[in-house]
Amino acid sequence: MVDWSGGNDTGKSPRQDAIWACVARLGRAEAPQYLRNRKVAEDWLTQLFEAEIAAGRRVLAGFDFPFGYPKGYAAALTGKSDPFALWNWLENRIEDSPQSNNRFDLAGEINRQFGGRGPFWFNGLKRDVDGLPRKKTDYENSFSERRLAEKRAKGAFSCWQLGGAGAVGSQVLMGLPVLARLRRRFEAAVWPFEPLDKSIAIVEIWPSLTLGAAPAGQIKDAWQVREVARTVSTLEPDALAEMLAVDAPEEGWIFGLGHEDRLRQASAQPPRLTNDCFALPPGVHWTPVREALVLLQDRLTPVTGSETMPVAAATGRILAEDVVAARSNPPLPNTAVDGYGFFGGKAAGVHRMPLVEGRAAAGDRPGLVPLGSAVRILTGAALPDGVDTVVLQEDVTVSDGQIAFHGPIKAGANTRRAGEDVVQGDVALTQGARIGPAQAALLAASGVGDVSVRKPLRVAVLSTGAELVEAGNTAALGQIFDANRPMLLEMVRRFGHEPVDMGRVPDDRDALAARLEAASKAADLILTSGGASAGDEDHVSALLTEAGAMTLWRIAVKPGRPLALGMWSGVPVFGLPGNPVAAMTCALIFGRPAMARLAGSAWEEPQGFEVPAAFTKNKKHGRTEYLRARIRDGQAEVFASEGSGRISGLSWADGLVELPHDAAEIVPGTIVRYIPFASFGL
Ligand code: AMP
Ligand code: MG
Repeated sequence: MVDWSGGNDTGKSPRQDAIWACVARLGRAEAPQYLRNRKVAEDWLTQLFEAEIAAGRRVLAGFDFPFGYPKGYAAALTGKSDPFALWNWLENRIEDSPQSNNRFDLAGEINRQFGGRGPFWFNGLKRDVDGLPRKKTDYENSFSERRLAEKRAKGAFSCWQLGGAGAVGSQVLMGLPVLARLRRRFEAAVWPFEPLDKSIAIVEIWPSLTLGAAPAGQIKDAWQVREVARTVSTLEPDALAEMLAVDAPEEGWIFGLGHEDRLRQASAQPPRLTNDCFALPPGVHWTPVREALVLLQDRLTPVTGSETMPVAAATGRILAEDVVAARSNPPLPNTAVDGYGFFGGKAAGVHRMPLVEGRAAAGDRPGLVPLGSAVRILTGAALPDGVDTVVLQEDVTVSDGQIAFHGPIKAGANTRRAGEDVVQGDVALTQGARIGPAQAALLAASGVGDVSVRKPLRVAVLSTGAELVEAGNTAALGQIFDANRPMLLEMVRRFGHEPVDMGRVPDDRDALAARLEAASKAADLILTSGGASAGDEDHVSALLTEAGAMTLWRIAVKPGRPLALGMWSGVPVFGLPGNPVAAMTCALIFGRPAMARLAGSAWEEPQGFEVPAAFTKNKKHGRTEYLRARIRDGQAEVFASEGSGRISGLSWADGLVELPHDAAEIVPGTIVRYIPFASFGL
């Protein structure tokens, strides 16, 4: 995406109102490029296009100035209503060097053909130019002031104005000759005049169509090209095709006009992960669990987009932004008890006060109580003016419109301060928090109606293995039932994500590739089990390796086998071991925090507890071990067998005992770390 400029060289250091360009791929933008003049820009674009064509890629190159003029102008100037006739006409006449150009003179020359008072106006030079009005006062234009596109796009500028705030006139005059050359040199296709069946597509954009002001401290043009590039590069081919389906043969059109909501939505979509996001530092052999977790935490970023909805509908979702309290809680000082309210603390001894008429109940607008009088007041009622203290009704006798009670009582007793819970304007909840029942209550109490939340993380679950049969069917000799899928689907659901059942695939590479492709369309993360090692029938790892986007994570953990971590069509794949005990452990220890991160929530360490062991074990140094465990009589007992084929042990257990990386000699009474399944959200 390129933000153009009609002026001269803008100097060495990056600045606003210069030419800026930015390249993005699959939702990831590179650093915006500052291009100080059009010569530099044309060279940079030429090199970029050459490199992309050589790499077999296609480019959608956006430029932020009109590709055509209002209807009738091209024909009046060149004799043809073909926009390219106009491009060539300008290319033959525009003279451009970094320090000067002839745009005002050429505009004057054109104006003279049409009577000398328009269509162009604004002279940026000191000297007068024959036929080019400086002001709009004595200006005359027989063509439309704006193209159809500019009439539709609020705030878009006329192409006849050559200077001043927001003027694009000079950009068109100085841009089209460059585009004419690029088009010829690269046989590029220009939108919307030609079908975009070439390597390079040149498309008109207008960043302000959907973008507001740049964040503080950023150069607007740089930020805008980056945002547009990033957004357009996330669009699925179908969406892009729909947005490009426009009929504007002479004037051209602005990309995205009429699809603004869709563009805004796409820009709320976070960037995809890169293919090398699971790469391990070179030379790594067995990665300790801690290090593996730190790597995951560093490498993974949220992949889900966001949407806004009422708090009540948003439970279970993850906040995409910090939420600020719209109102204090409580909004006014109020009473915490049923009793009688008055002003000020009272010393020891008996106190009598006249009661005012009526009462203050929860929901009542606060009234007024004269000094020296008391008012009947009920829990939750806002304190009337003149009341700051409440005495419990149990401590009071009432007769003849008077109350009596024994002091002492402190000023402010039995009341709640305004904002003692939450103060308006404070951050009530931070981005990444999941909205559970307590959070829903807090948001509601803080006067928050709508919240911006992440879309649910869709997790595809896929079992692989020739031996697998669907549970409930008949298994032939040598076959086993698919135990991992029902387990993993339910784990995903309990972790708070959206499980997508992608079924089973035999050990067949083509079938697996097709299923991974389908899963990459249906989900944000693919969870496979089986076939993740480096054996003959380990097709998950083989396919991901072939795709050039896999790392086998050999983690020093038991139970566990290598994890195949990779990317398939832009979607991360978590290749879990086939063994159900290892699959569950790996899903709990590595899969769960990774999913949390992808879903946009805070990194989640499971809450563990230090408890005495009820077992004996001699543990070697060099790996972290997880034992199926449960608490009985305040002690952690572990499943009789550590055999990783024993699915019954998972069901027997209520949690895991985590034995750290170092060697350990455990006897009954040794303190060990117990992590209940509930700590993992199960
Ligand atoms: P693999 O990782 O494919 O080598 O499988 C390791 C072990 O786990 C083998 O004994 C498989 O038969 C078994 N296994 C793989 N997938 C499943 C599954 N979905 N359900 C139960 N056992 C499985
Ligand atoms: Mg297998």
